Amino acid sequence: MRDMLFINGQWTAPAARGRFEVCDPATGEVFAQAPLGTAADIDQAVAAARRAFDKGPWPRLSGHERARYLRAIADRILADKDRLGLIEVRDNGKPLPEAVWDMEDAAGCFAFYAGLTEEMDGDQGEIIPLQDARFQSKVVREPIGVAGAIIPWNYPLLMAAWKVAPALAAGCTMVLKPSELTPLTALELAAICEEVGLPEGVLNVVPGFGSDAGQRLAQHPDVDKLAFTGSVPTGSRIMQMAAADIKNISLELGGKSPFVVFADSDIEKAVEWIMFGIFWNQGQVCSATSRVLVEESLYPRLMERLVAEAAKIRIGNGMEDGVKLGPLISETQHAKILGMIEKGVAAGATVVHGGRRPAGLDAGYFLEPTILTDMDDDNLVWREEIFGPVVCVRPFKDEAEAIRLANDSPFGLAAAVMSDDLDRCERIARAFRAGIVWINCSQPTFTEAPWGGYKKSGIGRELGRWGLANYLETKQITTFNHRERWGWYIT
Ligand code: NAP
Ligand code: MG
Repeated sequence: MRDMLFINGQWTAPAARGRFEVCDPATGEVFAQAPLGTAADIDQAVAAARRAFDKGPWPRLSGHERARYLRAIADRILADKDRLGLIEVRDNGKPLPEAVWDMEDAAGCFAFYAGLTEEMDGDQGEIIPLQDARFQSKVVREPIGVAGAIIPWNYPLLMAAWKVAPALAAGCTMVLKPSELTPLTALELAAICEEVGLPEGVLNVVPGFGSDAGQRLAQHPDVDKLAFTGSVPTGSRIMQMAAADIKNISLELGGKSPFVVFADSDIEKAVEWIMFGIFWNQGQVCSATSRVLVEESLYPRLMERLVAEAAKIRIGNGMEDGVKLGPLISETQHAKILGMIEKGVAAGATVVHGGRRPAGLDAGYFLEPTILTDMDDDNLVWREEIFGPVVCVRPFKDEAEAIRLANDSPFGLAAAVMSDDLDRCERIARAFRAGIVWINCSQPTFTEAPWGGYKKSGIGRELGRWGLANYLETKQITTFNHRERWGWYIT
């Protein structure tokens, strides 16, 4: 395991010489030590990224040259996906096939942005038509500068890729702080960058605690842009910290996404997508469709099928064959979610399935797939993000009620609808107040398409060309036709 920080292309001991424990959520046991970066290390890393941006080759390379590095990174992730996947399983707990899938997605993200950075080479700037024909205005895009990235633990390498790949494609340099709960694959990414010969200081990786390293990165005056994925309270603090320097920020925050299922849906398809929408990655997915609304006439039959299928899910260590539900990330999350279920029940909710630690899995942070019903609009399990394998299901009478209930949330990340009537699906898709909508499915995510939320779910969009734009400044260059006279003072 790697026990140094990656700063300025060098493996560097943390300034305070500290380490922190990395735990396997399937056993609760410590299996590695990670280097503990503190504010002093963030200062070193930002200084390295600043030098690399101001004086180094990276922002001055052509898109085609940058793309060569990005493709090399993609190739190495792909070639090493099984080993990296195993690290991710131990660090995060997710089932191995999901972890390997994440590695493929992360590689795909680097390859996609390699393509976009190549396209930038042909970009001669956009000529803007002006009312006054004596002037010509051209718009060009330039890298924003030094970017900071603060990411969560639910998709450790993939969330890093969503930020590192577009930032590097744009010509920015970056300091990445992974979550203290899952620092390992970010350090592997640093090692890959070293192997492919990425110029020094272009990517710096500093694991550490949010309250120290994270806070320093968010407050650092030399960081031009901060990209954050995590919870709403931390996102709000990041915004306040960034305000001091008018730092450009993008925020990908939490959600409580609805899934509206009409009675004309195929019940088997509905059950499977509902399950994928909430049990995949143990429900620790920002876009999880955790509020399911089912048309009244389908509700009893659907509940019966959902409970029957949820009961069949194999729970266990993500390393074991056939496991579809691993442990939650930490003891804290486990206790928090059990507490939320308890409070939800006290406020009137009924546990239809699960709600407990599975029998026989006494170590680790396991929770049964959980199905709740009978909650009022203001029950906390219906309103608040649980971030676990807990789905709340309610019946609805008609389309109008479904839309009202779906949109009655402070969040607006994602939403899903299922019906055989595609006109109705399109109508509902337009009515949702959410940045991502799925029709007849839930969760599939594509590197090419924009990702981000309405309302408290965030600001800005990642992925696709929107993700690249996060790391670009817009410059307009206006030229006056020198054959003309201005004639204001001298006529
Ligand atoms: P979190 O507590 O907000 O942490 C996210 C990151 O912020 C971690 O690296 C954390 O470091 C750091 N951090 C914490 N306090 C900080 C501070 N004061 N200053 C700077 N950085 C700080 O969230 P989490 O519990 O790890 O992740 C779960 C949340 O992320 C959920 O709400 C989920 O919905 C959201 N999420 C959203 C998306 C999306 O795309 N919208 C994707 C994934 C997750 P430490 O690890 O050291 O605390
Ligand atoms: Mg945390």
